[in-house]
Amino acid sequence: MSQNSKKCLYCEVENDINNENCSHCGMALPTKHPHDKKTKISFFVKAFWGIVIFCVIMVFYLPR
Ligand SMILES: [Zn+2]
Repeated sequence: MSQNSKKCLYCEVENDINNENCSHCGMALPTKHPHDKKTKISFFVKAFWGIVIFCVIMVFYLPR
């Protein structure tokens, strides 16, 4: 619905999406999804490589 605005958590005033702080009360506004997606993707990449390295270690380490 409100793609170009985000609501202040404290005073519920609609602010421009580019604003970092509320124009009404000056509190920090919640950051929208792009940042969350990036952190999630990087987390899954790290987890993936952790599992891959773990599997490689297990392949060579475990007795057959
Ligand atoms: Zn506010």
